[in-house]
Amino acid sequence: MALIVQKYGGTSVGTLERIQAVADRVIRTQQAGHQVVVVVSAMSGETNRLLGMANELDENASEREKDVLVSTGEQVTIALLSIALQQKGCNAVSMTGDQVRMHTDDAHGKARITDIDDKNLRHELDQGKVVVVAGFQGRSPDNHITTLGRGGSDTTAVAIAAAVKADECQIYTDVDGVYTTDPRVEPKARRLKSITFEEMLEMASLGAKVLQIRAVEFAGKYNVPLRVLSSFDEGEGTLISYEEQKMESPVISGIAFNRDEASLTILGVPDKPSVAASILAPIGDANIDVDMIIQNSMGDGTADFTFTVHRNDYKRAKLLLQETAQKLEAREVQGREDLAKISIVGVGMMNHPGVAKTMFETFGDEGINMQLISTSEIKVSVVVDEKYLELGVRALHSAFGLEQS
Ligand code: ADP
Ligand code: ASP
Ligand code: MG
Repeated sequence: MALIVQKYGGTSVGTLERIQAVADRVIRTQQAGHQVVVVVSAMSGETNRLLGMANELDENASEREKDVLVSTGEQVTIALLSIALQQKGCNAVSMTGDQVRMHTDDAHGKARITDIDDKNLRHELDQGKVVVVAGFQGRSPDNHITTLGRGGSDTTAVAIAAAVKADECQIYTDVDGVYTTDPRVEPKARRLKSITFEEMLEMASLGAKVLQIRAVEFAGKYNVPLRVLSSFDEGEGTLISYEEQKMESPVISGIAFNRDEASLTILGVPDKPSVAASILAPIGDANIDVDMIIQNSMGDGTADFTFTVHRNDYKRAKLLLQETAQKLEAREVQGREDLAKISIVGVGMMNHPGVAKTMFETFGDEGINMQLISTSEIKVSVVVDEKYLELGVRALHSAFGLEQS
């Protein structure tokens, strides 16, 4: 008998028929002799609908109340799935984040899990029940409802799998695994049988939303066997593996992208120590995450400084930068909101120089101008005009031969 945690995302529980199909799969797993914990998301579109209502009342609605509001989405699904399971004769019980003692910090809207006391959950499992847990939600030290950030049900599932020492954590979604790139952008994308933990972490952090990045981090930290599968079809999905890099690893495993990039440039700042810090300090203090950074010395005692932020933070960051520009007597502040980031990821890159060259030549052949570039051992990221996103992804997919095995 194994202990399995299964997580079903929004589309997988998007209608009552889908919820019944999930119930059937859970029952099949239990009938195969396993204990099952099920983690569910809100029905598809529900979290956006709820946030939209809060926004209509107040664009600056309290983060605490927004968490109370959006956590209801998952509460609806745990009850409906438990009802469907019970109706089919399965002994199921629903539990909210608070009931499973999912403890988090108090960062509303992006809370981090601090610990899980699995006593309540174990108690129900020991009675032979299927436990249906609400994803995405927890409780802060002051007993407020918190949520874990968009896509956070993945993280709930992995955290629970770690807490109960599950034999496998299965993430059921609307694609049948992790692909070489988002199959909605490149229909020739190919499912990967397995991907290393390191690569999955890069893919998630560079925009592949098939797994929330914190879920991947958690799985790595606690060694949780993790698999992504389709809730619509049968199949083995993609295993996130912890194996050492193999010599024959493909050079590139996947392409990730993010549409919501914006860049800001401050021109003509004094070229001297500590200027970068004085430019970025107000941005950091305002809780705006900065991604890529480039500084160019102009050779005349001045420098130009460019960085990227999430598009949602663009306006705030620009205002702050304009204030800094006045203080530093900089020449000008420029910005662009219509950018996207495309990244190639692969542990095989370590043994193959020239990967970046192929990427740049491919963009050159397609007439795609690169605005910013950043590299690490296992990825190269490039910022381009958003209008070139699809073209860029498909061109790279073909240039690196990803459609073949
Ligand atoms: P869920 O609601 O089940 O959590 P998500 O929408 O969060 O599902 O994630 C699944 C989606 O991730 C897919 O529909 C797909 O469009 C997208 N995606 C992005 N990159 C990839 C990739 N490399 N492989 C598979 N899916 C990807
Ligand atoms: N319902 C939440 C969201 O839409 C959490 C999740 O689906 O994982 O982001
Ligand atoms: Mg998701």
